[in-house]
Amino acid sequence: MTELTAFRAETRQWLDANCPASMRTSMPEEETVWGGRRAQYPNPDAKIWLDNMASRGWTVPDWPKEYGGGGLNLDEQRVLAQELARIKARPALQSFGIWMLGPALLEYASEEQKQRFLPPIVRGEIRWCQGYSEPNYGSDLAGLQTKAEDQGDNYIVNGAKIWTSYANHADWIFCLVRTKPDVPKHEGISFLLFDMDSPGVSTTPISLISGASPFCQTFFDNVSVPKENLVGDLNKGWSIAKRLLQHERQMISGIGGNSALGGGSRSLSEQAKNYVGESHGQIDDPSLRGDVTHHNMNDRAFQLTLARSAQEAASGNANGHLASMFKYYGSEQNKRKFELLLQTMGSQSVGWEGDSFNGAELNTTRSWLRSKANSIEGGTSEVQLNVIAKRVLGLPD
Ligand SMILES: Cc1cc2nc3c(=O)[nH]c(=O)nc-3n(C[C@H](O)[C@H](O)[C@H](O)COP(=O)(O)OP(=O)(O)OC[C@H]3O[C@@H](n4cnc5c(N)ncnc54)[C@H](O)[C@@H]3O)c2cc1C
Repeated sequence: MTELTAFRAETRQWLDANCPASMRTSMPEEETVWGGRRAQYPNPDAKIWLDNMASRGWTVPDWPKEYGGGGLNLDEQRVLAQELARIKARPALQSFGIWMLGPALLEYASEEQKQRFLPPIVRGEIRWCQGYSEPNYGSDLAGLQTKAEDQGDNYIVNGAKIWTSYANHADWIFCLVRTKPDVPKHEGISFLLFDMDSPGVSTTPISLISGASPFCQTFFDNVSVPKENLVGDLNKGWSIAKRLLQHERQMISGIGGNSALGGGSRSLSEQAKNYVGESHGQIDDPSLRGDVTHHNMNDRAFQLTLARSAQEAASGNANGHLASMFKYYGSEQNKRKFELLLQTMGSQSVGWEGDSFNGAELNTTRSWLRSKANSIEGGTSEVQLNVIAKRVLGLPD
């Protein structure tokens, strides 16, 4: 038996014993686990599943064991993902800490900061939010105005952020602040971490037309932050900010499988057959069949490209600008997927509520609307095209 075969057998056995039955069903949105001090578990199995996975570091299989991660190599990560998919296991934990902050801390934080902040992310104990965008500084992020002034052992933070996803549920924020005015804008930015319960932090949820409030405006009024919470060097936070954005963009590229971000793993072909019928295992409508096949081929090629790039990165061949290419393609592809899904559903796709539509149909319509934000969050598609034009193609500004 090869080591990998043994790993698969052991993983399968462990999952059988440790993944509760209700965690092998499709996940209603209200049961999504984001963790944190204020976490609620409407399904208590979700907490058991989180704790079991965290005990092996498998909420973050690729992080080093010394920071609580699984320490798995790429092949082992692939096997674990396959075994989780085989039993249709729900994600044990969704987390900005895992997707964005953690990878940046691994690269830029001091050893003490890594020991302090990474293990609670793995265990889902601290929920993080992202304080980047400001009312006039979204695409032009480096123009940000929230300032942090030196006051002895602390920085005093004043300003406002906007579109801060789930800030009203978060425990801590990773925040870009201006620490040096009167220098070129990229050179006076620092990367600070602080507790959302600090005096002077407040949030105002922004309501969407759907009634949901997934993000907030976040205000800082003389918030005192210990200097030990500065990551990297003072005024050099822009490098960390950009790196973190690459991780965010990489995560959004894989959005097709992430229901929390308006993705979804429902198979296009299966759903199309349900609505338009099938003969000989094929979607009946030839034109729709062609569109779905075309989409599936692009999706497969894209997934293989992502896997190849992950392998290259693991062997030290990382290319940061790929994140912009993948983010652009992945989010546009996810939007096309939902357009096709709605096309297959016909009039069943226009429901918002009521008995004429089942839960999956209502969910698909909502996810279709949510998918429109994929090409805005983490930097718009136009901004990604600018990065590709300048940094990859070498075109002039
Ligand atoms: C669902 C969602 C969640 C989000 N969560 C967070 C979060 O948690 N934390 C956070 O900090 N931010 C968050 N954001 C904010 C997001 O990062 C910004 O919306 C995004 O960077 C765009 O900035 P803006 O909204 O200010 O648009 P603007 O920058 O005002 O852009 C408006 C339009 O102009 C275009 N444009 C701007 N500049 C250029 C240019 N140079 N060339 C070509 N076109 C250009 C843009 O592409 C866009 O179409 C979130 C956004 C969404 C949609």
